Amino acid sequence: MIDWKDMLARGGLAATEKRLLVVHALAEAGAPATPQELLAVLGAKLNRVTLYRILDLLVEHRVAARHNAGERAFRYCLSAGHEHHAHFTCSRCGHTECLDSGQFGDGLSALLSHLPMRVDTAEIRFGGVCRGCQGG
Ligand SMILES: [Zn+2]
Ligand SMILES: [Zn+2]
Repeated sequence: MIDWKDMLARGGLAATEKRLLVVHALAEAGAPATPQELLAVLGAKLNRVTLYRILDLLVEHRVAARHNAGERAFRYCLSAGHEHHAHFTCSRCGHTECLDSGQFGDGLSALLSHLPMRVDTAEIRFGGVCRGCQGG
């Protein structure tokens, strides 16, 4: 069981009720979600402006990751303790998922740490055909 308050604390953020709502919604989504999808889940508990503000904050503090899956809207997911993680987007059904590749992410962090510049963001997205779509 993940401690959401602890997750926020590690990002240097106080665990306010609204932040916890957003972190929980991101976890429940199970896949990178758009603000639209999150709003659909959160309903009346949070307005759009507040949601965007909290998402920005979570990204800034590396609790969540923001990435572009080639759509109009950004997608958000929890960083799950890894500074960097990769994503996969299926070219047939358009589904995007987080690759739970701790080793990969940590390897990337190690690689980046050797660079003379400070890298704040790294976006790695694999494209191909997901398991579900390979059947047909
Ligand atoms: Zn697919
Ligand atoms: Zn992700």
